[in-house]
Amino acid sequence: MSRGGCHSLARITHGRRPRTAESLAWLLGWSHRLTRRLRRCPGLRILTYHGVCADEVADEAWLPPHFVTRSRFMRQMQILAELGHIAHLPDVANTLRNDQPPGEPRFAITFDDGHACTLHHALPILGSYGVKATFCVATGHIDSGEWFVSDRLRVLGTLPGSVKAGMPPQLQGFLDSPGRSKHVPHDELKCLVEDSWGLAVNWRGSRLAEALRPASWGEIVALHQSGHEIAAHTVSHVILSRETRRRREAEIVNSIRKVREKTSRCDTFAYPNGGPGDFDEQDIEVLRREGVAYALTTTSGYCTRPLDAYRLPRTSVGLGHDEPVFTLEMSGWLDKRRRRQQRGDWA
Ligand SMILES: [Zn+2]
Repeated sequence: MSRGGCHSLARITHGRRPRTAESLAWLLGWSHRLTRRLRRCPGLRILTYHGVCADEVADEAWLPPHFVTRSRFMRQMQILAELGHIAHLPDVANTLRNDQPPGEPRFAITFDDGHACTLHHALPILGSYGVKATFCVATGHIDSGEWFVSDRLRVLGTLPGSVKAGMPPQLQGFLDSPGRSKHVPHDELKCLVEDSWGLAVNWRGSRLAEALRPASWGEIVALHQSGHEIAAHTVSHVILSRETRRRREAEIVNSIRKVREKTSRCDTFAYPNGGPGDFDEQDIEVLRREGVAYALTTTSGYCTRPLDAYRLPRTSVGLGHDEPVFTLEMSGWLDKRRRRQQRGDWA
């Protein structure tokens, strides 16, 4: 590498020791290989966001790792607009379903769960690019305003050790390794979390509310009226494969019907957690019966023809996506690695 190259690399990494992915992204960007790679793979890449939060809370330990800050989201939209075209998911999915190529590299934006902070921080940015997005909402949380169990579990995990020592041993186990909680039925975990939630409120106060509260139906209906798509994401945000057959069917059907009651339509569903082991053919059959046209996973990749409409891949974006990693991710370079990681989570 030339002297100039080293200086440039130091500049983009702000003097930090560059991570391998950062260095690779810089080298590829330098040689324009990212752009060439994108041109070879024209198609649709659907992005999964969750919360978009204020920059001021970026370093808070309780912030979910799948959130992004407002400034980073703004830069990511700018990068997408430079790389291709940001399309509205229903439009471009219908194009693919009719077996027509979508043309230039295209991206579609989705937000899962329905946190109110996303509306506050992301909507003005989407508006400045003329972008319409798909918001996948867990309808029970929109009904009740109750915070997501996974968010509350993370908040409890950031409390001082002396406070955590007073919690049930089973809950402490989940706080030490939150990944284990995904293997437990939703209601069992919720009971455990609720019993100790008062401790979090006492210690952390109300600072969390701006970032973690779910949106209201008034806010969601306003989104729909301004042209964004509202999709279903179950009622209680259960991982379907962890529940009884009867429960998973009710979670799917009731969330779709609630979205239709509020917005008059619901053509898209997003599987919570969204990995290959999180749903099955019987769930897809329920979606077909309910007249849903598309279902979204969290398996990274491009949507290609022929379109597998009930297993649309999506690429998750979170706090770890600084500019070089985000650019690399959009090029498809990390897809295989992401799929390997997802399979590893289930091993
Ligand atoms: Zn979700």
